[in-house]
Amino acid sequence: MIDLHCHLDLYPNAKEIAAACKKRGIYVLSVTTTPSAWQGTEALAKDAPRIRTALGLHPQLAHERIGELPLFEKLLPNTRYVGEIGLDGAPEFKAHWDKQITVFDHILLQCSKIGDRILSIHSRKATKAVLDRVEVYHNVGTFILHWFSGSQQELERAIELGCWFSVGPAMLTSAKGRALAQRMPMDRVLTETDGPFAQIAGSSLLPWQANLSYEALSRAWSVDEKAVENQILKNLNQLVSR
Ligand code: MN
Repeated sequence: MIDLHCHLDLYPNAKEIAAACKKRGIYVLSVTTTPSAWQGTEALAKDAPRIRTALGLHPQLAHERIGELPLFEKLLPNTRYVGEIGLDGAPEFKAHWDKQITVFDHILLQCSKIGDRILSIHSRKATKAVLDRVEVYHNVGTFILHWFSGSQQELERAIELGCWFSVGPAMLTSAKGRALAQRMPMDRVLTETDGPFAQIAGSSLLPWQANLSYEALSRAWSVDEKAVENQILKNLNQLVSR
């Protein structure tokens, strides 16, 4: 099973959750929201080769943590995985839009110097601005749009630009989310939870609940759940061997 976007460090019992992921053999992309969280979060993945820790600076924190960009730069060579990064155009964060842009552009520029990165991208209410940057920084590596919530046309553009997608149970509870998933290329989709932020029925999703996405994907793609599971695993292998 694969949870390609999970905030492992933000569960109150992070160590227990990490140990359970290891025991269950789940592949986890453990994303971080600030560069200063990276080292402690990386420690959660000790002796767990299936847990990879991504270096991030969340767009909702960009205005508070812009001073951590030098630390981001310093840590970047330590990991192939970058996230959570991106832009958030929701009203409460639009006030800090300029700083979000500065942070995102700076990170993409740093990544383009190294290349071969795998990036988990937040694009809530900011799809166009994010895709404009994917177009400019196409040499950076593989962009995975997490919890994509743009329009069908924006989805088409993202597909043309070579983006991948990670979808989760919370996204797939909405008809819009399911309609988007239906149009995503099966060979560029991975599962995620976005736990502990994302919830189902009032409870934070746990990494091993990423498989709650299979049912909706199975209906969207008209294949059985086992075929979905196999496809997602094949996609992960493809992603990391690119
Ligand atoms: Mn997230």
